[in-house]
Amino acid sequence: MNLLDNLNPEQLAAVTLPSQSALILAGAGSGKTRVLTTRIAWLIQTGQVSPAGIMAVTFTNKAAKEMLTRLSSMLPVNTRGMWIGTFHGLCNRLLRTHHRDAALPQTFQILDSQDQLSMIKRMLKALNVDDEKYPAKDLMYFINNAKDRGQRAGDVEAYDHVQKRMAELYDVYDQQCQREGVVDFAELLLRAYELLQRNHPLRQHYQMRFRHILVDEFQDTNDLQYNLLKLLAGHGEQRGGALFAVGDDDQSIYAFRGANVGNMQAFERDFEVKNLIKLEQNYRSHGNILDSANHLISNNAKRLGKNLRTDAGLGEPVRIYEASSDLEEAQWIIDEAKSLMAEGVSKSEIAVLYRSNAQSRVIEHALFAAGLPYTVYGGLRYFQRAEVKHAIAYLQLMDNPHNDSAFLRVVNFPTRGIGARSIEQLQMAAESYRVSLYAAVPYMTGKAGTALGNFVKLIESARFETQQLPLPEMVRVVLERSTLLAHYGNEKEGQERIENLQQMVGAATQFVQEEGFGTHAPAHLGPQAAAASGTAIVDGDGIDVLDADAPLATVMSPLSAFLAHASLEAGDAQAQAGQEAIQLMTVHSAKGLEFDAVFITGLEEGLFPHESSAREMDGVDEERRLMYVAITRARRRLYMSFTQQRMLHGQTRFNMKSRFFDELPEHALKWLTPRVQTNWFAGRKSTTAWDDATFREGGSDNHIAKQIAQKSTSGNGTGWRIGESVSHARFGEGVIVNIEGGAGSARAQINFGAAGMKVLDLSVAKLERI
Ligand code: ATP
Ligand code: MG
Repeated sequence: MNLLDNLNPEQLAAVTLPSQSALILAGAGSGKTRVLTTRIAWLIQTGQVSPAGIMAVTFTNKAAKEMLTRLSSMLPVNTRGMWIGTFHGLCNRLLRTHHRDAALPQTFQILDSQDQLSMIKRMLKALNVDDEKYPAKDLMYFINNAKDRGQRAGDVEAYDHVQKRMAELYDVYDQQCQREGVVDFAELLLRAYELLQRNHPLRQHYQMRFRHILVDEFQDTNDLQYNLLKLLAGHGEQRGGALFAVGDDDQSIYAFRGANVGNMQAFERDFEVKNLIKLEQNYRSHGNILDSANHLISNNAKRLGKNLRTDAGLGEPVRIYEASSDLEEAQWIIDEAKSLMAEGVSKSEIAVLYRSNAQSRVIEHALFAAGLPYTVYGGLRYFQRAEVKHAIAYLQLMDNPHNDSAFLRVVNFPTRGIGARSIEQLQMAAESYRVSLYAAVPYMTGKAGTALGNFVKLIESARFETQQLPLPEMVRVVLERSTLLAHYGNEKEGQERIENLQQMVGAATQFVQEEGFGTHAPAHLGPQAAAASGTAIVDGDGIDVLDADAPLATVMSPLSAFLAHASLEAGDAQAQAGQEAIQLMTVHSAKGLEFDAVFITGLEEGLFPHESSAREMDGVDEERRLMYVAITRARRRLYMSFTQQRMLHGQTRFNMKSRFFDELPEHALKWLTPRVQTNWFAGRKSTTAWDDATFREGGSDNHIAKQIAQKSTSGNGTGWRIGESVSHARFGEGVIVNIEGGAGSARAQINFGAAGMKVLDLSVAKLERI
């Protein structure tokens, strides 16, 4: 089947835009992700770019995987050369490849937020800082926030002495991380940004390499991410590839993590975007569902302005249920889910969404009791479970012994007679010699010295023993040698933990296969790989740069890659291989997904909209966008529920029903319980701040209602080729999307970007090659 089949004219225009910066602004379910994926395939298929010239940014690792799978099915080429991943994943790759230039050990490790917090706590304690005045959480927030804005400690403007002290502590923290060879999530981005900003040859290399940079969910990029994109796309440097961004301002839901929806307008301005395409046809949801979404979101001010329509018909009404308690709400979900299943809806097509993670417990319990299998997204992930983190810590120490978090986690686990007192002494020694805990062990004497020395020996010998082993074998050995298996074997309830640990061998096997390391490659970085990563190539300016195109396997050992994967796999579903299960997740993690049937639960004031929103500027607007995301996940059936009473965080709450109910169109709803007329909150009608006229009707010439069958790209006898860039006196620059007819009578369909799609007679039109 042709790649371009099954696209509507606007989508087709977007997919085949010329290689200039473009913004696709479109509502939920209008095919943004599909357009982005198809464009990559089209660019490669028409020979405009090789896979290595593509960088694509997705919001989750899962989305990246799905995109790769789709691309592999669309294209008969090897997709390995492409860089597809989240910002964090891509930055990790960049930093591994150029670890020397980034002043990092090749085996640097990634701190997840839990590790980051405990590291900050340790630091505050060692420095005798009053943790009432400087709580670890506040400091962590301060540091991450500064990093997200691109600021180092010295760049932070401190207004009072508390902030000044925070900035000092930020500096100490950074030094500590550097000593240990660890980076936190925000650091991954900032380091990558600084690397490219400072290293001209390297920046130039990547600007030349990535001809096309495509970003999904652009509305949720933060400023640092946008600046990184600007560097890569050579903004202001007359170099660099085309930036193709797709997004929906109505789905911007990560402001609390620094996302800036204003990046959409900044992008338009900074890159003088001529190609702005709107997609307004929704392919996902039935009419009543879509009406509800449109109606609700129209209550928000500051929208970029777009509408969604569907050809799917009204479908069923949105069902609304008022429960007496959270327990009853859960029971109702079970009953409805069962009847959906009886109607033939598969379990994995049923999603239960909630605003806060804490709500899942009651629902999980009810599902469990009813014997219905379920999967929780973003709950306690596999790699976050205590026993798994312990095993990972051993592996981390074997890869980089200076990671203090890993050291502290397992130095006395399972117990080996190393007491708190010994650890304190060791910390003091490390502090005074300014080295890692591991490196401070030789300074210890007496009984503590012996016990700690034995621990070091254990790590060293495990490392030596596994040197030549492939990763899964290495994991197996470490589980034994660490005595973790034996330890849990003695525990009463240890069986599940043992199974989780053993699953790690499987996880490692799957990982090396999927990442193309080969199941027999030694887990440590071998001498050959190390040499390859050090290969200097001489850049055009005569400057040495590391081989930036080295395959992943030569710049990262399977072990380092696996450990990075364990830290980065944030928010993705728990591994529950192949099981058909009902999907439970927060609304935030449902972004980009779709299901036949969706339950939105806990629609109560204080819960959704969340009480924290009252404190934030535009807080309720953000909650409304979140509700818009929730509604638009549903294809055919949508349920909403609220309860009169609920237990949350150990308290019984009596909440009013959510104000969002008053913002839905009555005609689309069906109240399953008698409706109590409350009108607590008058519907807030608002004006649209940006009107449609702000945007050009770019690139979406609707005259071509039907696509022309694509002919082969060669041998059509016209002298022109699909994918070729051309210029026309009146319409400007464009790309040939299709050619029909043979020599003499051929017509070409050409996408002129801002001037739209045109069909021109090749024997008449004066086209020039560019
Ligand atoms: P979201 O904003 O939620 O991320 P989106 O704009 O990325 O949504 P997609 O997920 O790409 O939308 O598409 C929504 C659904 O519509 C998918 O199932 C997709 O396959 C389908 N779809 C998109 N375009 C078409 C089309 N032209 N014909 C048929 N189905 C389509
Ligand atoms: Mg999408």
